[in-house]
Amino acid sequence: MKKINLPKLPNKDGHFDEYGGMFVSETLMYPLKELLKAYTTIAKSAKFRQMLTKELTMYVGRPTPIYYASRISKELGSSHIYLKREDLNHTGAHKINNAMGQVLLAKAMKKTRIIAETGAGQHGVATATACAKYNIKCVVYMGEEDIERQKINVYRMKLLGAEVIPVTSGSKTLKDALNEALRDWVSNVDDTHYIIGSVAGPHPYPMIVRDFQSIIGHESKKQMMSVYKKKADILIACVGGGSNAIGLFHPFLNDDVEIVGVEAGGYGLSTGKHAAPLNKGKPGVLHGNRTYIMEDENGQIQSTHSISAGLDYPGVGPEHSWLKDNKRVQYVSVTDKEALKAFYYLTEKEGIIPALETAHALAYAFKIAKKRKNKNILINLSGRGDKDIDTITKMTQMTL
Ligand SMILES: *Cc1c(COP(=O)(O)O)cnc(C)c1O
Repeated sequence: MKKINLPKLPNKDGHFDEYGGMFVSETLMYPLKELLKAYTTIAKSAKFRQMLTKELTMYVGRPTPIYYASRISKELGSSHIYLKREDLNHTGAHKINNAMGQVLLAKAMKKTRIIAETGAGQHGVATATACAKYNIKCVVYMGEEDIERQKINVYRMKLLGAEVIPVTSGSKTLKDALNEALRDWVSNVDDTHYIIGSVAGPHPYPMIVRDFQSIIGHESKKQMMSVYKKKADILIACVGGGSNAIGLFHPFLNDDVEIVGVEAGGYGLSTGKHAAPLNKGKPGVLHGNRTYIMEDENGQIQSTHSISAGLDYPGVGPEHSWLKDNKRVQYVSVTDKEALKAFYYLTEKEGIIPALETAHALAYAFKIAKKRKNKNILINLSGRGDKDIDTITKMTQMTL
């Protein structure tokens, strides 16, 4: 067996070697340090972990199963395709793992107001759900453009009692919503906790979100052995900010397993219209941390494109930047077209409608299943595709 011995990161300043950190104004340093302190004391306690485990079991539906996709495995060759079913979580994706953990943490910190940013609305819905359950005021920042594109999720958040604030600055999408949420936090730190939806942002967020999402990888490792008596040879997940990917990967980083993250190739990497900072970007600072980002010669953040709103982000979690540079994880990309094809394939052959984000991971997995012999390929099925039916219908001019 190959020996891998990666250091435990981030270090105490939140660095993954040259990535991560806390590139924020002085006013934000105080709440970030308060959060780090609360996290390391409260969230690590046995009492908190027991409470969270209970809620994840009874309310969210964990552990999610690993499903062996026998029909497509057979059709694609000698390799075996396994799906970690995060789509079966309450609210339909992995985002709730983090939202539940952070809302419980906020409650323990005696915060009475939660704010969040959202792009496609999945993180907003997960946060609004947890806030409804625990009776906490919830405010969600969302770009005006995204509000228009994701009407159902906006309606869901409002039904759940959240206030949705339209963001009209910049490109009126996720990165602008994140800026507005950070601004709100600075002025309301006393009673407010900010829940970031991915492993992005300043320290300690990339670590906190990773830890709450790592339940995916911990469960997977156990289930592959207990249910299938096998080890995964290859792990695959899609990468937007990178939370579902790091959630699966992290518990396996020192194991003898190949790991692949799949970015959104949009219309193709050569067109410039994509959301693949690890493939085509360069290191810089965005939203309080140093990581691979997509920016032009003048240091302006470039506009991104992906068929899936959840991958449409010009940055990526700093831990992924580190894992790219040290070559522990391979980062590839898949185009809109390829993702769409994989979306149909899984739906038709296995009766599972995946999220368009997830379809990127599937497309790459199907590609290598045809080439590699006798490999156990485990894919993180990060979410279900109900939210994408509108997009799919428009893309294919299908009339339902
Ligand atoms: C939000 C989302 C993603 C992308 O976010 P990550 O932080 O990269 O996981 C992927 N899949 C689904 C279903 C999502 O909702």
